[in-house]
Order: sequence, then structure tokens, then C-alpha cells
Amino acid sequence: MRLSRYFLPVLKETPADATVASHRYMLRAGMIKQNSAGIYTWLPLGHRVLKKIEQIVREEQNKAGAIEMLMPTIQSADLWRETGRYDAYGPEMLRITDRHDREMLFGPTNEDMITDVFRSFVRSYKDLPKMLYHIQWKFRDETRPRFGVMRGREFLMKDTYSFDLTKEDAVKSYNKMFTAYLNTFARLGIKAVPMKADTGPIGGDLSHEFVILAESGESEVFCHRDLVEMAPPGDVDFEGDLSHIFDERTSLYAATEEMHDAEEFAKIPKDKQLSARGIEVGHIFYFGDKYSAPMKATVMDSNGKPQNVMMGSYGIGVSRLVGGIIEACHDENGIVWPKSVAPFGVGIINLNMKDEACGVAATDFYEKCVEAGLDPLYDDSPDRGGVKFSRMDLIGLPYQIVIGPRGLKEGIVEVKDRATGERQNLSPEAAMNLLVEAFA
Ligand code: ATP
Ligand code: MG
Repeated sequence: MRLSRYFLPVLKETPADATVASHRYMLRAGMIKQNSAGIYTWLPLGHRVLKKIEQIVREEQNKAGAIEMLMPTIQSADLWRETGRYDAYGPEMLRITDRHDREMLFGPTNEDMITDVFRSFVRSYKDLPKMLYHIQWKFRDETRPRFGVMRGREFLMKDTYSFDLTKEDAVKSYNKMFTAYLNTFARLGIKAVPMKADTGPIGGDLSHEFVILAESGESEVFCHRDLVEMAPPGDVDFEGDLSHIFDERTSLYAATEEMHDAEEFAKIPKDKQLSARGIEVGHIFYFGDKYSAPMKATVMDSNGKPQNVMMGSYGIGVSRLVGGIIEACHDENGIVWPKSVAPFGVGIINLNMKDEACGVAATDFYEKCVEAGLDPLYDDSPDRGGVKFSRMDLIGLPYQIVIGPRGLKEGIVEVKDRATGERQNLSPEAAMNLLVEAFA
């Protein structure tokens, strides 16, 4: 992409109402525009990151055997009356009436609806287990929308639902998602720790939150330090036994504020005790027949007896992650994207648009990057060098290639690694090789 043809409305001023780094940088880097409280337009740069995160989440769900579908954002109140949640949910739910005075709502979550889908089609235990998911916008009329997309009112969530005949099988599904989440967050370039959690309005008796440790986190969390550095499971057989992955993590103490047990925590060796602030990026629940019982979602077991299907639900805050990743990956100059989610792989800075040799070299480098699939952003604007440098730092692409008349005379370009700040003078060919290898 050439910057001259792109839409990147970078702000010079730091917006006054943005109190955390991710919110500030997302506004300044032209990633989002607020439309009303907690409701945002995803501008092209932000949209690229959102889609990259969504795709990684999707791939890891598919690996775990979950099947993608799409449910609507607008739901009928009737379904929620069946589970008793229409009244229980309170003012966070955006209630709507259509022209025929029918009560509708903008879905804050989809347990009720998916249970209805399930009961419409599935009759036999032979069709189990099943895991279904979608990636869809939700609405929750939060009391205090804040921190930009991290606590929005409209937000994008990946929500998966599992269906099993027995609790024992449902725990296997839970472990599949637990494992898939560890791999997902590792691929996104962040360390998210699974922590024992409260079940809230979703309900149930087994629940973990996946939490990024960051100073700007809204809640206090407590865990054993070793959990933070534990390697992700990687390639595993999702049909095999995954309980060791779950056990290995849950044998170490980790809990959110609500579930914290100071006595247990004190048993951890002092130097391994970690109390920090955290951002919840995922939340998984096992809740048995909480929805299937009132909605009569039953399947025949092997004796021909109807059984309530045992369910779990598994959320990831896709749009919250954009902010969450920035909270974990930034410095005083701007965002430092992990390679896997960067909006572009490499930024090319032409230091002198009036210099013919620079133009030829930068265009040539740009075209080679396109061919190599490096997804370059070429700053071909007439701006001064200083403006180009700070804009490139702000938007946080993993590598910058600086092409100027002086270097070119010696046959070199400068390669800057955004994360380390390290600069190297290389021939254009060597610079290209470095990039290709970095993204291999
Ligand atoms: P929180 O405690 O932060 O309000 P929650 O427990 O109500 O979240 P869940 O119902 O578990 O949220 O939703 C699944 C995921 O959706 C969360 O882990 C979070 O990543 C994301 N999420 C929830 N509420 C919001 C919001 N207001 N804005 C952006 N993402 C959200
Ligand atoms: Mg939650």
C-alpha cells in the first residue's frame, strides 16, 4: 500500500479523554474513530489488525474441532424469557421493539439462541460431541464504557458453545478450548494466564478467565509467577487426552479478585508470588444444563432416554484484544505490534521524494516486498523525514526500511527493528533477505 493512496488519519494531538496508552495510540494512529460512547468506527488501519486477530482466533478454533457459523445480532426476547434471563440481565441489555411491537434485543451473548438452534436439529447422543462458534458483534450497555475498545458497548466477540451427553465429556470439551486458548494467545504475541474465575450472569460451576498482565488492567489478579512464562501446548491431538495441559496449569495458583484465597496464595514461595493488574481477554464456562433444562434441549442416550445436553461457553474479546495487545506491546513512541497481528509487515520510508534515485530505489524495494508477500506500507508522502519517522514509530510496524540519498550513494538502506530499536545498514538485497526470513 502506498501511503498517498491510503486512509490513515493520524492525529498530532493526544486526545484528552484517553487515559490509557492503547486508547491514545489507537486514536492517534488513525485506527478508530469514536461515534458515541463505547461505539467505534474501525478505520482501515484498525480494521486490518482486527481482521488479523479474528483470523488467528478462527484458525485455532478450527484446529480444536469447533465449527464456524453465524447467528444474528438481533434476538427475540421470547428466547430469553424461556431461560429467565430477559428480566435477570438488567439494564446492560439493549432492548428494542420492532414496528409490530415485538420485543427484541441486541444480543449481549448467545447461550439462549444457540440452545434453540441445537434443540431444533439434534436428537441423538450419536451426534455428540459438537462445538459451534461464531464471531459476531455484541452489545452491552456498560455503565462506564472506557479505555477505548477495551470496554466498549458494541464489541466483537468469538463465542463457542459445546454440547455433550455427560459432564465427563463436557469437561473434555472444556479442556479442548482451554488448550486452544493457550495457543491462540501465544500466536497473538501475548502472555495470557488462565485464572480461576467467577461465573457471573452466564452461570455454572467451572470457569477460567484468560488474563493479560498490564498496569492499566481493570481488575486485580494473583498467580504463581511460573504460569506467566509457561510455553503454549503447540501442536496437540485434540482428539486425545488433554487433561495434563489443564492440570499442569491449574495445579499452580491463579485467581481473579472474586475467587482470590489469600491463605492459599501465601503458601506460594514469596519470590514466586505475583499480584498484578489484569485485562480479561477470554472467559470459558462449563454450566451443565443451566440452559438446556429450561429450554428442553435434550438428546436420546444409548438407552433411548432423553437427557439434557451438557453445555459450556467460551468467549474471546476479539476487539478488546486490539487494545489489550497494545497495552502489552508499546513504548513511549507508539505501538510495537507483534509480527502476527501487525497491520502491515514493513514500513518503507523514502527520505527524499524529490530525489530521483531515491524514488526509483524505494519503488523497487516496495514492489519486491509486495511480491514477497511482506505487506509493505510505503510512505511516499512529501512530509519531512522527522514526521515520517515518528508516524512510522507510532503505527508500530515490526520493521522500517529507510531509503535516503546519502545511503543510496553507498548502495545501502537502513533497516530498523521497531521492537529493539536496532538499526543496520544493509544492501537492499540483504535487507530483503532479512525481512523474508523474519516473516518465514
Ligand atoms: P468483563 O468482566 O470485562 O465485563 P465479562 O466477564 O462480562 O467481561 P464475558 O461475558 O466473559 O465478559 O465475555 C467474553 C469476553 O468478551 C470477555 O472475556 C472480554 O474479552 C470480552 N468483553 C466483554 N465485555 C466487553 C466489553 N464491554 N468490551 C469489549 N470486550 C468485552
Ligand atoms: Mg468474563
